[in-house]
Amino acid sequence: MTRVALIAHDETKPDLVEFAQAHEEQLQQYELIATGTTGNRLLEETDLEVECTESGSLGGDLMIGAEVAQGNLDGVIFLRDPLEAQPHEPDISALLRICDVHDIALATNRSSAEFLIDGLAD
Ligand code: PGA
Repeated sequence: MTRVALIAHDETKPDLVEFAQAHEEQLQQYELIATGTTGNRLLEETDLEVECTESGSLGGDLMIGAEVAQGNLDGVIFLRDPLEAQPHEPDISALLRICDVHDIALATNRSSAEFLIDGLAD
């Protein structure tokens, strides 16, 4: 089954929720995993089933990175906040790197997320 990770920094969480609502029917067909706070927002604001890791700042990005390394994920949608430094920047870099290592589709903004979700549908 297609498995997709959803992550957003605080400033971009509303955008990710809106994205998930707009693509809810399609996302319902996939296994979804999200970092803690993002996942809880999705559980509250959509009807999607989402497995939640730790919060990003407590290792959630690394947990998703581990799934990428294990070959469990087909795509990562990570709406990063490009304007705010994050205390867990090393974890974020590790996640982006491991997606490249394993050639896993990675979208870090809304426009690329639209392409990724369209690509998964094909
Ligand atoms: P959060 O983590 O969903 O727990 O806020 C996201 C992140 O900061 O990487």
